[in-house]
Parts: sequence; structure tokens; C-alpha cells
Amino acid sequence: MTHPDDLSGLSALVTGGASGIGLATATLFAARGARVACLDLVPEVPEPLLGIRADVADDASVRAAVDRAAAELGGLDIVVNNAGIGAQGTIEDNPDDEWRRLYEVNVLGVVRTTRAALPHLRRSAHPAVVNTCSVAATDGLPARALYSATKGAVLALTRATAADLVAEGIRVNCVNPGTVDTPWVGRLLATAEDPAAERAALEARQPTGRLVTPEEVAAAIAYLAGPAAGATTGTALAVDGGMAGLRTRPR
Ligand code: NAD
Repeated sequence: MTHPDDLSGLSALVTGGASGIGLATATLFAARGARVACLDLVPEVPEPLLGIRADVADDASVRAAVDRAAAELGGLDIVVNNAGIGAQGTIEDNPDDEWRRLYEVNVLGVVRTTRAALPHLRRSAHPAVVNTCSVAATDGLPARALYSATKGAVLALTRATAADLVAEGIRVNCVNPGTVDTPWVGRLLATAEDPAAERAALEARQPTGRLVTPEEVAAAIAYLAGPAAGATTGTALAVDGGMAGLRTRPR
């Protein structure tokens, strides 16, 4: 009997797969036996991952990358919509152009990649889509209005798409990470007045008192993407150090 974590024989596409959560996910998938392509603005990824340069904000680029991944991997069973960008500020801070840019990448990027992958997923025996959402979709985080709105859209999209595809056996789920120790957070801290104090504040925001690791998010994505989660669709799995689920006093 194969182990429930086994992904051998499956082909996966991970957007934003060249860094952080995406790279950890692609690496874990490969370690569990999957063939994996990383769709990213940056095509450099370690062996045995296949790097494909594409921009999720550009439909033609996404369609070409998805079809190339399917051709080179021998089909597509799993799509992880993980590419995303951030923004800080209240609704008074971000100009309309920034709202449009974030929606292009964080929301329409998910739509475009899933849409382009569907003909391939329909030929799979174990088709699954996992979206990287955020605790920002469910919790009111200060100074994250625009980013939170895009992730709220991804959560709604996850559930609605799951409903549309359930009869075809295609599962759609998302993960809601808290603050994850990736290059993204490194860039955020680099712009802070006091990076050490800012990091301590981010750690204290999570009841576990530490940042989530990319590998912990990857493990949740791998579970939702694999046959072991065959009865799970339209759901969000929090990987947030207890942020959304617990009501604890701040540390
Ligand atoms: P990261 O910056 O380390 O990696 C993001 C990757 O996405 C990069 O390789 C980047 O090149 C790629 N990318 C960005 N725009 C793209 C585009 N238009 N087309 C293709 N690729 C593109 O970030 P991360 O922390 O690993 O974040 C990954 C996802 O996780 C994002 O969707 C983010 O919103 C989500 N997330 C992150 C955190 C966190 O604290 N780091 C928390 C919750 C959710």
C-alpha cells in the first residue's frame, strides 16, 4: 500500500515556485515523488524542479507556461496558485493603480492559472488545486486593507470554484498562513525602522510566539494537494500559529 503522503506519478505546477512558500512546496512535492514545474518571474530553480518564466498578470504568458508544464511533465494533476505580492497601508494610502496591480497578480493570477490548467486537470485521476491565501482573508489586520481584500477574494474564489468543479472530481482548497519566514518578510523587515523590534512584534502576534516556517505551509499544501485529502474541498486550512483560531492575550 502506498503511503498517504506519496505523490509519485503526479505532476504539479507551483506558481511563485522560485522563492519562499512556493519553493518549499515544490521541493517537498519533488521529495514525495512528483514531477514539478515552477511558474515564476524568476525561472532559476534547483534540480529536479523545472523552472518556467511567466507572469501571472499576463494571460498569454500563463497559458503558454501551463501548456509547456503539462507537455514537459506529462500532464497536470496539481496546481498550486501561490504567486503573490504585498501592499501595506490603509484605504487612504494605496492609489487605484496599486489596487489594480495587486488584483491582477493576487486574484486574476489565480483565475488565469486555474482556467488554463483545467483542460489538463480534467484528464487527471487525482486533480487538485490549492491556493495560497492568508490569515488576512479572515482577520482584520491593521494597515493591510488592499492585501487583505485580495486574499478575501482568493478565499471566496476557492470556495466558489470548489463548488463549480466538485461534480467533476476536481478539489479546490486553500491554506491561510500567518506570518511566514520567507524572503518576503525579510524584505518587509529591511524597510522597518527597527527590524529586530518589528520581527519581535510579528512573532508576538502569533500565539505560538514564532513565525511559521515555509516548510510548515508546504506540508499543509501537500496534504491538500494529495490523494489523502480526497474528501476535502472548498476549505481553508490555517497555518498561522493559532492567529485566527485562538483568542489569547498578546505576549
Ligand atoms: P516570496 O516573495 O518569497 O515569493 C513569491 C514568489 O512569487 C517569488 O518567487 C516571485 O518572483 C513570484 N511572483 C511574484 N509576482 C509574480 C508574478 N506576477 N508572476 C509570477 N510569479 C510571481 O513570498 P512568499 O512569502 O513565499 O509568499 C508566497 C505566497 O504566500 C503569496 O501569495 C503571499 O501572499 C502568501 N502569504 C505569505 C505570507 C508570509 O508571511 N510570507 C503570509 C500569508 C500568505
